[in-house]
Amino acid sequence: MIPVERHKRELFHGLIRIHVLLHASEEPIFGLAMMKELARHGYRIGPGTLYPLLHGLVRAGLLKALPKKDTEGRRRMYRITPAGKKALEKARVKVDELHRELHEVHPRLAG
Ligand SMILES: [Zn+2]
Repeated sequence: MIPVERHKRELFHGLIRIHVLLHASEEPIFGLAMMKELARHGYRIGPGTLYPLLHGLVRAGLLKALPKKDTEGRRRMYRITPAGKKALEKARVKVDELHRELHEVHPRLAG
């Protein structure tokens, strides 16, 4: 049996990444505020999960960590990159399509 935590990781981390990119496209984000925002949407993830996820997005070139001098206080802040904006736009199309399919009654399953 697959442990519950791994289940969640397999299914939801892509959604969480899209969510992070969306907020980073609106304004620079930092870890703690992002954790609160995700919790508001029902994703309970801690720093041990979120920070590696943020660093992964940075390595992928979708987020950029702002230089410390540009941020208030000691928070590490991130903003979206041009590649991140493109990826977010593609994700938006895919999520819209998935959303439609999730909510349509599939012809094979209908009565
Ligand atoms: Zn949100």
